[in-house]
Amino acid sequence: MGLPIPQTLSPSSMGCYTSCPLAFKFSYVQRLPEPPSAPASKGTLVHLALQHLHWRAPEERTIEAALADLGRASRELEGDAEFSGLELTPEQLEQFRAEAEVLVRRYFELEDPTRVRTIGVELKLSAQLERVMLRGIIDRLEIDDDGELVITDYKTGSTPSERWEQKSLAGVHVYSVLCEQVFGRRPARVQLLYLSKPEAIIAEPSDVFMRGVNQRSGAVMEAVRKACSRDDFRPKTSALCDYCSFREFCPSFGGDPQQAEVVMKERAATAAGCPPLPLAV
Ligand code: SF4
Repeated sequence: MGLPIPQTLSPSSMGCYTSCPLAFKFSYVQRLPEPPSAPASKGTLVHLALQHLHWRAPEERTIEAALADLGRASRELEGDAEFSGLELTPEQLEQFRAEAEVLVRRYFELEDPTRVRTIGVELKLSAQLERVMLRGIIDRLEIDDDGELVITDYKTGSTPSERWEQKSLAGVHVYSVLCEQVFGRRPARVQLLYLSKPEAIIAEPSDVFMRGVNQRSGAVMEAVRKACSRDDFRPKTSALCDYCSFREFCPSFGGDPQQAEVVMKERAATAAGCPPLPLAV
């Protein structure tokens, strides 16, 4: 019997399918819970702090304000399972917060936020293309000095190699398409702000890029539909396997994918102190 077909694609789910169809099945078809990870949680915390910063009036966006916003974000996320599940010791928590503060301080090396004309943060957008419904969350949308739209995406991981840079930009061009479809205007620029280095990667969405998103997202959706109808998702090993939450269930590493659903749901329920979640039928 075929598997349920995801109704939408996002930059992350498209990237996931392209990198490894089996990891896509675990994450986006079976929707298996993944254990919390410190780097991902740090990213969530820093994104929320910068979100608060850009809600402020431009002249208030100082480093001191950003650090206060980091504290506020930290308090807001304290009870969230993504954070409590990390089970950090007091020393680890201190280190975690110190690293988040470094990222926030480095943000100020990339731009002066008092000069940014922010018009939206954390914008959830979706649009129907020819063969697929796309969705995504834009970290920040602003207007530049020429009145043009600019999309900004914050990255809290390491700066990618040249090869991965193209993959990262492919994801960001999905945001350009969403922006054009929803607001009727193509952004003049999309920028990835890598806070850890810090480094900015900037691209101008051309007709070629926009057509590329349409074709690529349609092709990925077709492939996902076929894979779901045959339950045929193959593992594709790469450097990403080192960070894969499902590696122990991956046949490329001697695992059994059939075990993933039961084990991952049991672990999530135990971590949350709840009875096991019902299995999908
Ligand atoms: S370990 Fe590697 S090949 Fe296996 S599911 Fe994860 S990403 Fe795919």
